[in-house]
Amino acid sequence: MSKSVLQCINPQCGKRYNALEIRYRCDCGELLDVIHDFESFNRTGEMWRKEFKKNLQLPAFFRFKDILLPDLPEEKIVTLFEGDTPLYLANRELQRIFGIKRLYFKHEGMNPTLSFKDRGMVAGVSWANYLGVKIVACASTGDTSASMSAYAAFAGLKRVVLLPEGKISLEQLCQPISSGAIVLGLQTDFDGCMKLVQELTAKHPIYLLNSMNPFRIEGQKIIGLETISQLNWKVPDWFIIPVGNAGNISALGKGLREAYELKIIDSLPRLAGIQVEAANPLYQSYKKNFSDFKPVVAQKTTASAIQIGNPVSAKKAIREIKYFNGVFEEVSEKELLDAKAIVDSAGISICPNSATAVAGMKKLREAGVIREKDLVVVILTAHGSKFSQATIDYHKDPKSTYSNPPKTLPPTLEAIERALNL
Ligand SMILES: *Cc1c(COP(=O)(O)O)cnc(C)c1O
Ligand SMILES: [Zn+2]
Repeated sequence: MSKSVLQCINPQCGKRYNALEIRYRCDCGELLDVIHDFESFNRTGEMWRKEFKKNLQLPAFFRFKDILLPDLPEEKIVTLFEGDTPLYLANRELQRIFGIKRLYFKHEGMNPTLSFKDRGMVAGVSWANYLGVKIVACASTGDTSASMSAYAAFAGLKRVVLLPEGKISLEQLCQPISSGAIVLGLQTDFDGCMKLVQELTAKHPIYLLNSMNPFRIEGQKIIGLETISQLNWKVPDWFIIPVGNAGNISALGKGLREAYELKIIDSLPRLAGIQVEAANPLYQSYKKNFSDFKPVVAQKTTASAIQIGNPVSAKKAIREIKYFNGVFEEVSEKELLDAKAIVDSAGISICPNSATAVAGMKKLREAGVIREKDLVVVILTAHGSKFSQATIDYHKDPKSTYSNPPKTLPPTLEAIERALNL
């Protein structure tokens, strides 16, 4: 008996499908959730928590597998040892700057391809491996293609990535090229690539691995639970996360919601989704109490991973924000770049997208929405080394608040002493 089914996210429809069927949407057009029969495990919250602490030498995915993809045979798992990422307590200086003592950073940039997308791909590519598909594809703002390409390469699957030409970082472009994907740069934006990859995978036997594939969401959903286990099961007051296509916030919410229902955690955190002003359709909808949702045309932003005007998982994200009494916030380019410089300079290397979450947290704290005494976890989504150009541009610009440009000197001790004021 299979433990999982696909189910339409529209409660008025709720149609169910076999989990082994390859489909990304309900017949009515809505997205799908993977729903599991957790009751069949007959476990208390305490028993689940014990399960997650078993086999600590294996990648996180194995320990959490019963809650992620219970039907997946272990020998089908394609892992590069993702997850178990560090949870940093902010140092004194960061606590002071942000005005929060119990401030944590969950650094998802410490995954194998340097972003949280690896958590989605261990699930998505393993499932593809289980289904026996031969070719996988995705549209990407950079990190999805890097991750999918690496995992598909490891599994020996053919891999195709659609990228908006000139809109991703050089390091992100290098990743799928070097791991052997067919890389197609299209003269459009991410939303344009996303539309085309859906047409491509609908027409041909190519498996779609964007986060509209609900198995990706299953992999990503343990970010929250893993964090809480690192906090010895203390539930934070807030999780703060950047939002682009809205898969990750949907996953975070689904994982925490299920954990609450299974009594693995005994209270609910609040969620804050942070967007950039250049691409803020969910923030705009939130401002109108979600009375309507309108896609926007995303403008250029250094947070290129979230330069998305028509988030595929918008409805799932809104569902989670409502359930968790959450908020959306938006930040400017200056706010996010300054936030990046602040966290980078404490020794934690982050990307502009992660910095969006940090800047949003700062704004919410200043507005009093987040309180000084709150326990706050900011999810850092990728590593700073993926975005060297943005970092160099910021630090070389004398107008930047925290600029720290390198100095060029003649090769003499005197010159060095002068530069160091010695
Ligand atoms: C993909 C990505 C995001 C956005 O996640 P969504 O699921 O698209 O909302 C944020 N930051 C980084 C670094 C990413 O790669
Ligand atoms: Zn439906």
